[in-house]
Amino acid sequence: MNFFNILLPIAAEGIFTYSSDNHALPGTRVAVSFNNRKIVGIVLGETKEPPFKCKEISIILDEIPLFDKQWLEFIRKISEYYLTPLGSTLFGVLSPRVLASSPPKRPCLPKPLSIVDVDLSAEQKAIAERISADMSSFYPHLIHGVTGSGKTEIYMELIKRVAAIGRQTLYLVPEISLTPQLFELLSARLGIAPSVFHSKLPHKARADAFWQFALGETPFIVGARSALFIPSEKLGMIILDEEHEKSYKQEETPSYHLRDMAVLYAKIKKIPIILGSATPQVESYFNAANGKYSFHTLPNRIFGASMPTFNIIDIKKEYTKKIMAEPLLQELTETVSRGEQAIIFLNRKGYSTSLYCKVCGALQYCPNCSVPYTVYRSGRLLCNYCGSSARYSGCSVCGSTETYCAGVGTERVEEYLEERFPNQIVRIDADSVRSAGRLTRLIADFGSKKAQILVGTQFIAKGLHFPDVTFVGILGIDNILSLPDFRASERGYQLITQISGRAGRGKKCGIIHIQTMMPNHPLLNTEIYGGQNAFYDYELPRRAMFKYPPYTKLSRFLFAGGDERVTEEVSERVVYNIKKEFPKVIVLGPAKAPISKMNNLYRYAALIKSNSNKNIAELIKRAAAIFEKEKTAGIIFRADRDPYYFM
Ligand code: ADP
Ligand code: ZN
Ligand code: ZN
Repeated sequence: MNFFNILLPIAAEGIFTYSSDNHALPGTRVAVSFNNRKIVGIVLGETKEPPFKCKEISIILDEIPLFDKQWLEFIRKISEYYLTPLGSTLFGVLSPRVLASSPPKRPCLPKPLSIVDVDLSAEQKAIAERISADMSSFYPHLIHGVTGSGKTEIYMELIKRVAAIGRQTLYLVPEISLTPQLFELLSARLGIAPSVFHSKLPHKARADAFWQFALGETPFIVGARSALFIPSEKLGMIILDEEHEKSYKQEETPSYHLRDMAVLYAKIKKIPIILGSATPQVESYFNAANGKYSFHTLPNRIFGASMPTFNIIDIKKEYTKKIMAEPLLQELTETVSRGEQAIIFLNRKGYSTSLYCKVCGALQYCPNCSVPYTVYRSGRLLCNYCGSSARYSGCSVCGSTETYCAGVGTERVEEYLEERFPNQIVRIDADSVRSAGRLTRLIADFGSKKAQILVGTQFIAKGLHFPDVTFVGILGIDNILSLPDFRASERGYQLITQISGRAGRGKKCGIIHIQTMMPNHPLLNTEIYGGQNAFYDYELPRRAMFKYPPYTKLSRFLFAGGDERVTEEVSERVVYNIKKEFPKVIVLGPAKAPISKMNNLYRYAALIKSNSNKNIAELIKRAAAIFEKEKTAGIIFRADRDPYYFM
């Protein structure tokens, strides 16, 4: 009898010993019975006979290991860094259903590309050459190219070169449903429909894409974050586009950042990784500027197209019920009458962001959260945090049903514009595009000029290319710049740059109007947008001064519980002990989280700042141990490493 350690995708450490008369190599999949159900796990290795009776492996599924040593090392490192048990890590990165699916029975032959070449510009060519100079070592690259500078063409050139040496490319994008235009481009240029992998695909399609890539059949795959975890022996390069996107940070366990994990994996696999963005995250820019990544810049738009011009409109004085400042509306009207297209940006969904009682003035809150209800045009009230929804039946304080709305959302803007430009409006936000098909249709409608004005949230900031858009109006930037988050400036900079990057991508020049109550905010100084590095020159010294990343490492503790006082007490005891045990680390808090109640749980947070990664893992482990000792039933503790969410 032989004995094996098997890793199971379950929310626990997940390593169990099973026996077999046969031999199973590390990295092969086996089916076992666990808690009376059949589950597929991965063999970690052989082990000696345990002192207890163990179950037998039901079936050994693979002859040849699918998950090589490097892949297993990768999963282990994620588990260590984010302090997540190994089984939970496996469960979090790979769907158990995909893991249990069967490979195709047919022989897997690599599909050939059939390439339609374009002439790269001298700058594009130089970058492609520099990157492909060494394709068989770990080499992180950052391409900092302004919007419309032709980054995607460089990626396609590299995919081609990687395929030519018989290897595969993994092409990661933040939100797969937003990329119909990218698919068309890839198919047209590389001659095969791109294989895609993301969690919203039906199971069969997902399993097929998984196997095709794992077995080397597809030369490249386009995927959202889960694609990083498809094992593939022939992986030769990783591309991660829009590397600054905060959706790359996973909220669920393990709460990894996809970019950081992609760099780690490339290092383990000894392959190049290409990060691309028009607005790199400050940390990435810093890494590139310091030589940790190789730095490539594209300071100009392709074919000498000019960058858009900015105009800041002070709306303090005309702060009335107006939705759009006069100059903005006028520019929009002129754009439309010239037959050109416009984009209006606002980061608030719904009709109105707050509902007040006309009699007593009370703002109407979600009963479960310390968050005001969002009002929809349909009359429904919805909480964006817990998802609870209601019909307004009267003021929560005085019962009166007379109300007024404040704070404009995208539905309200759509209504306002519909009155002025009938049948010319397309709205894209998380509500209007619940299905990927609908999004594709809306994008196609706007692309084919069925409508001239696109109203949307940050959804529309990413990668869309409409050559006839010449005007962008930004209505809602103030609330982003005012967020209690050290990345608020960065976020504002990125949104303004990305959204304005949708304008003037064709032959005509783009114009941007930003309406604001804070015209003197440093991020609304147009000099910030005048040069590719201006923002970073402004922001880096501030980060250094206030001891924020990239100069420090952050972690965040969150305590949540049904009883406010008890939650606060537990958070205080844990943090007090941590401060005592780790005197060199800066610990701020605990304090009420900005959203102090969510889903009927009261929330307290603490922020940990440390000069290095050393000690942090130990500190978090200690905090978890102290919490275990101190906790009262019903209180939750979460430690988030390198957090992006501070609410
Ligand atoms: P980015 O990703 O940097 O915003 P894109 O790669 O989308 O820029 O390029 C902008 C536009 O210019 C696209 O329509 C693209 O097809 C086109 N383009 C880029 N490089 C070239 C080239 N060398 N020849 C022809 N068209 C190009
Ligand atoms: Zn009232
Ligand atoms: Zn709520």
